[in-house]
Amino acid sequence: MNVISVDHLVIGAGFAGLCAAIKLDQAGERDFVVIEKGSDVGGTWRDNTYPGAACDVPSQLYSYSFAPNPDWSMSFSPQPEILAYIKRVADESGTLDRFVFDTLVEDATWDDAAQRWTVRTAGNGGGEGTTYSARTVISGAGGLSAPKLPEISGIDSFAGELFHSAEWDHDVDLSGKRVAVIGTGASSIQIVPAIQEKVAHLDVYQRTAPYVIPRNDRRYSRLEKLALQKVPGLQSLYRTGIYWAREGYVPAFTMAPRLALPAQKMALANIRKGIKDPALRAAVTPDYQIGCKRILISNTYYPALAADNCDVVTDPIAEITPTGIVTADGTARDVDVLIIATGFHTTELPIAEKVTGRSGRPLAEKWNESGMSAYKGTAVADFPNLFFIVGPNTGLGHSSMVFMIESQVSYIVDALRTMRAEGHGSVEVTAAAEQAWSADLQRRMKRTVWSSGGCASWYLDKHGNNTTLWPRSTFAFRGETASFDPEVYTVSAVSTTQNPHAGPTQREAVSS
Ligand code: NAP
Repeated sequence: MNVISVDHLVIGAGFAGLCAAIKLDQAGERDFVVIEKGSDVGGTWRDNTYPGAACDVPSQLYSYSFAPNPDWSMSFSPQPEILAYIKRVADESGTLDRFVFDTLVEDATWDDAAQRWTVRTAGNGGGEGTTYSARTVISGAGGLSAPKLPEISGIDSFAGELFHSAEWDHDVDLSGKRVAVIGTGASSIQIVPAIQEKVAHLDVYQRTAPYVIPRNDRRYSRLEKLALQKVPGLQSLYRTGIYWAREGYVPAFTMAPRLALPAQKMALANIRKGIKDPALRAAVTPDYQIGCKRILISNTYYPALAADNCDVVTDPIAEITPTGIVTADGTARDVDVLIIATGFHTTELPIAEKVTGRSGRPLAEKWNESGMSAYKGTAVADFPNLFFIVGPNTGLGHSSMVFMIESQVSYIVDALRTMRAEGHGSVEVTAAAEQAWSADLQRRMKRTVWSSGGCASWYLDKHGNNTTLWPRSTFAFRGETASFDPEVYTVSAVSTTQNPHAGPTQREAVSS
């Protein structure tokens, strides 16, 4: 077996994995490999190429603090611009020589005697992969990367074109077709207005109406861009202003949902502005508290729903047939192209099925029983030297995930620095610390609108626990992850057992 030995194996080359690569490199931890299932960097911004894809967090904040970009064209950047930004940062980072693309993790198993992870990979597309022996594994696999197809009877029998929003088929021409979109979440409300004028007819299948407030987007003028580029400190000041304005939303989500009533009024006014028909207005008016699900932003969604060639279908879907969709009232609607905008596997991360810890138990088994949890969203008891970025309870509804990513990466790099300085072979968070962390988060969750707002959402797992979102301010998270805290970890010395997989290092393998 050809085994490559590395210090650190990073999984995923999106915002998280790239940030880890850059910060590892800067910290002198240069013996690492980043494996990525796709054929380029970008993660979710590489995969989600659907028409209208854009970020609903301002780009000045939704970017790395260490790689400011004065050239964003709009306050909320479109997907191609964000992907181009990630590619540019990757190109300029000098780390791409350690990225291995088109590679899937088959499994990762902790070898306690050797104090190392054995990670088997496969080529994406079935080809043979490499096995890595790594001291640490850093997962940047993301929480919104595995498309979730709805369990609707007959879906496999559909004879037309069918694809998920995150796997858009650009070979399918929608012009003049009867198109159906299932789902009305963040992806759908961007897709619907982007395709409505092109298609012959559009059916939007809505199970739960979302709250959609106006999108205060605008194009930056040349003068503004020049000022951001040339005036020292201006871009950083601008970013800080956006950060604190967004942070001001936190109490409404986490403590006092009544504070969000003005936003609720704005959303209802957005409906009245975009839709004249009282029946359609009623159909798209949510019946729960704003903030319970992600608050969406659009100026074009409601006018698209109100267009003559669009119907909003609220009757539950009974089945999908080879030619279309039948709803519970018995109505059959013909469909040429079926767009599945039903979201992602968020509370059962697929990576957990592939990781087996010190006691020989898969992570998915542990999380299935008690729900996803990780100390500081990063470390899990029984899984030494495994670090998550964008792990459990690190998601946000109001601000930039890149801020959370940078916080976690800084914590992980500090852990590695401590391990090297102290001669630790492994660090494993104690079960007590992990449980106390989770108990505190779940206690805080009770007061949040996500739990009390009267809706079901992808934030909640099958036990009804919110294992996805961070229920405090982002600066509190920054504080929690400011430095590694070895006192809640069990540490082991470097193994005296010979690394059973001692083979060429990644650099030797690449250069041979
Ligand atoms: P989502 O928010 O989970 O929305 C899925 C939609 O599909 C919901 O309307 C859901 O209805 C519906 N649905 C699910 N299963 C269904 C079924 N069996 N039958 C009928 N309807 C069904 O997914 P998403 O829109 O892809 O967005 C996921 C997340 O990605 C977002 O919350 C956000 O965090 C991120 N995102 C961000 C941006 C951005 O601008 N930054 C853009 C896109 C996505 P229910 O509400 O009834 O469950």
